[in-house]
Amino acid sequence: MKIYNSLTRRKEEFVPLEEGKVKMYACGITVSGEAHIGHAFQAIVYDIFRKYLQKLGYEVTYARNYTDVDDKIIARSKETGIPADEYAKMMIEKIDAVMRRADVDDPTLWLKATENIGNIIGFIEGLIAGGHAYPAANGDVYFDVDTFPAYGQLSGRDKEDALDGVRVENDEQKRRPYDFALWKAAKAGEICWDSPWGKGRPGWHIECSAMNRAAFGDQIDIHGGGRDLIFPHHENEIAQSEALTGKRFAKYWMHNGLIKVNGQKMSKSLGNSLLLSDLLDKYSPEALKFALLSANYRNDVNITDELFPQAEAHVARFYDLIARAEAQFPAETGREEAIDKKFNEAMSDDFNTALALSDLFGYFKEVSRLLAENDPKARRITNQVRATYALLGLFKRDPAQYFAQYAKKEEIPAEVAAVAEERRAARAGKDWAKSDELREKLREMGYAVKDSKDGYTLTKI
Ligand SMILES: [Zn+2]
Repeated sequence: MKIYNSLTRRKEEFVPLEEGKVKMYACGITVSGEAHIGHAFQAIVYDIFRKYLQKLGYEVTYARNYTDVDDKIIARSKETGIPADEYAKMMIEKIDAVMRRADVDDPTLWLKATENIGNIIGFIEGLIAGGHAYPAANGDVYFDVDTFPAYGQLSGRDKEDALDGVRVENDEQKRRPYDFALWKAAKAGEICWDSPWGKGRPGWHIECSAMNRAAFGDQIDIHGGGRDLIFPHHENEIAQSEALTGKRFAKYWMHNGLIKVNGQKMSKSLGNSLLLSDLLDKYSPEALKFALLSANYRNDVNITDELFPQAEAHVARFYDLIARAEAQFPAETGREEAIDKKFNEAMSDDFNTALALSDLFGYFKEVSRLLAENDPKARRITNQVRATYALLGLFKRDPAQYFAQYAKKEEIPAEVAAVAEERRAARAGKDWAKSDELREKLREMGYAVKDSKDGYTLTKI
């Protein structure tokens, strides 16, 4: 098994700290809003890495965290009037539910900052005792970056450059501008906990170091996250953990690429955030995974208008061939084991899902040919494909169920479409009474209409 290690910037043979066991941690979601496709990509990628390592026979303990207290959550709490802890709890429930819809399994351990305040305070006390951190006059506690000479090893940045583009906060409280907060003194009315430095809450970086140590001890095998977390988040995690223990924190650092939408960075401020729940209303989880895993996980994924529809079309074609092979050879239970071997070769090369998925085109081309020749090998191939590719979340369900849900959406009948068009004209003429009457008529015909700025969509009730 080879893994690309961001720390050494090369592919390395995977040798865990303890034979047969893997301790893996991936930074999770800050629950200030619902899950978008970027969150899903990250969750899917590490879920699959875990499953493949299990397939190789490792006993994997996989931990993910929810950052359930931070500035953004506090801001959302102020906007909505919902207390910060309730707001975080509500978002976690929503995110858990949508991840299940996306067929992402739970980690072995779910870690939450608010459930680890004691661990976090203990960690900070250790850093202060070791001379690596200091309390400031206002009740903040900062990490003293100058006491950790290896700072910058992961990102390749030096600590002065590191400040470029970083918002420097509370400069007057720090010894040096690049020192970062471990503990933040509470402002009036904010969620807070008691600590030796007064009421406050943890900084973002410290929660991952402290929760890792509480869950796994001083060292882990794999630490993952999105590439945007390398600096400052992961750099700061290394500084905190290694300053405290004097040991190498994570043996392998893995970073997935970022999501772009039509070539642009996805962000709330650009208004191009794609919510996972909206995508799952339109596409199957199989199509999302097929699209997201068709490139190397380290690459950025560019979401164009065609990406998911195209992936759905491929998935539908594959499911169709599976259904045909199963109908034509109902009793054939054999498998083509070479497919599994080839899959493992691809995955053992730094989880090369791109290669594993591109192989599907060849397999299904052969299935199509073999079906025409009435050769039962067609069914042996689909049997193996289903068994092997379930690890990537593909072909796990009955083809009929897939088609019922995604691929055979009924056409809108002409008479319904005509009423909807009539209603659009009424709205354009600001005839609201008529528009409402036609909405009711559509409802009676069995369709709900939803208006948007570009027109409307009809959904069967
Ligand atoms: Zn983290």
